[in-house]
Amino acid sequence: IITPKADVGLIGLAVMGQNLILNMNDHGFTVCAYNRTTSKVDEFLANEAKGTKIIGAHSIQEFCAKLKRPRKIILLVKAGSAVDQFIAQLEPYLEKGDIVIDGGNSHYPDSIRRTKELEKKGLLFVGSGVSGGEEGARYGPSLMPGGSPAAWPHIKEIFQAIAAKTKEGEPCCDWVGETGSGHYVKMVHNGIEYGDMQIIAEAYDLLKNGLGLSGDEVAETFEDWNKGELDSFLIQITSEILRYKEPGDATPLVEHILDAAGQKGTGKWTAIDALDYGIPVTLIGEAVFARCLSSLKEERVRASTILAGAGLASKDLVVAKSKKEFIEDVRQGMYAAKIISYAQGFMLLREAAKVNNWNLNYGGIALMWRGGCIIRSAFLKDIHTAYIKNPKLDNLLLDPFFTKTVLRCAPSFRRVVAQSSLWGIPVPAYSTALSFFDGYRAAKLPANLIQAQRDYFGAHTYQLEKEGSKGEFKHTNWTGRG
Ligand code: NAP
Repeated sequence: IITPKADVGLIGLAVMGQNLILNMNDHGFTVCAYNRTTSKVDEFLANEAKGTKIIGAHSIQEFCAKLKRPRKIILLVKAGSAVDQFIAQLEPYLEKGDIVIDGGNSHYPDSIRRTKELEKKGLLFVGSGVSGGEEGARYGPSLMPGGSPAAWPHIKEIFQAIAAKTKEGEPCCDWVGETGSGHYVKMVHNGIEYGDMQIIAEAYDLLKNGLGLSGDEVAETFEDWNKGELDSFLIQITSEILRYKEPGDATPLVEHILDAAGQKGTGKWTAIDALDYGIPVTLIGEAVFARCLSSLKEERVRASTILAGAGLASKDLVVAKSKKEFIEDVRQGMYAAKIISYAQGFMLLREAAKVNNWNLNYGGIALMWRGGCIIRSAFLKDIHTAYIKNPKLDNLLLDPFFTKTVLRCAPSFRRVVAQSSLWGIPVPAYSTALSFFDGYRAAKLPANLIQAQRDYFGAHTYQLEKEGSKGEFKHTNWTGRG
């Protein structure tokens, strides 16, 4: 008979799993490790886990027997069928109230399904977003758990202990909401990451190819920005990247890298979801398309010789009086674009919550992203504050702090978009954010004409402005012909 000794079990001894186990061990929890290829259990115990309290198992039955009740089992295996296979293998050995936690990059509809299936059997399921890569898993990831609410009191202590901490010491982990909401929030996090990276890349392009700053000057500018309201991991690493040179080469490495961006699909998932839900998450969408356009490298090189002639020569400034002033415009424009991107991301979360019946903890989500993950930044504290003050906030742009900030940045924001179009430098993220802002704050849009056109060619009907969206649907015979 095996005595249950482990506080938690983890299946999947690849890079994420091993690091998360070591992290839990550091925080005083006894962890039992298991892996499909069981030789990896022995290797792990003999090497990385040597001298720790970590224990191992060589079968699912032994693994389950070693866990204290209710069992808490974290899966960190390849997303997809491997998760379902392990759940099926575990089920015969689990008891009512045991908790299965999927920490992989699963697509949220799978987590919705798994929560429902396990709950029907009296078990609890948690789908948790884990962000921060290998380093995060080892020393403090951002954790976004959602699923069966009854599981949270049992896993809260472990999750909050191992999670990254903000400067104020708060854990970057809180309960997100029901069923697939944890993985949903992780997906939107990744989409926002695409957007943040695209905005930064555009600013780099404007400073370097528009204003003609040297690589070191751009790096210095980013370092400077990182001390203020744009303080964030991505700005910090960008300045480091811009300075990095290989020994014996005076040109920074980044300038040798092929300008074709790859993607694994989480940004695309977010954009597809935004289209499905009808929510204008334009900045993330443009960021995904910008990567697609970048990867048409050969076609672009060919087109560059045919479609030449942007207009204004680089370094010619029309909208700002000096280089210094324009650099500040790019900075304020970046802040405004970022605020708009997050506002769009939270609009998507709000709609997903409505459709899926999730009670999302928006302030908590901002806090979870404050540390440990790629989009960590000082400004998430302001988002956290906005949602703590008003959990039912309609839109981030309507929070008094963000209203004031975005209005303050708007003149700079407009100058950046105007100047880049004269230069012929593409700024899809900056410009879509500005268009969204102008659309969102417009009491009247030209959609009346679209409705008229739809009715003209397809008898799709329209409503009258004076009657509003509850008004009667009308059709007009626009041509007078029968
Ligand atoms: P991974 O390469 O995604 O997966 C390897 C692990 O999955 C191994 O334990 C492997 O077992 C197991 N596995 C693969 N196919 C299996 C199958 N059909 N049946 C049973 N087990 C199977 O590992 P990872 O990079 O550590 O990532 C783990 C999870 O975390 C993934 O979902 C990943 O997307 C997510 N994630 C990764 C990162 C990151 O930075 N790497 C960050 C956040 C989240 P064997 O040893 O037996 O092959």
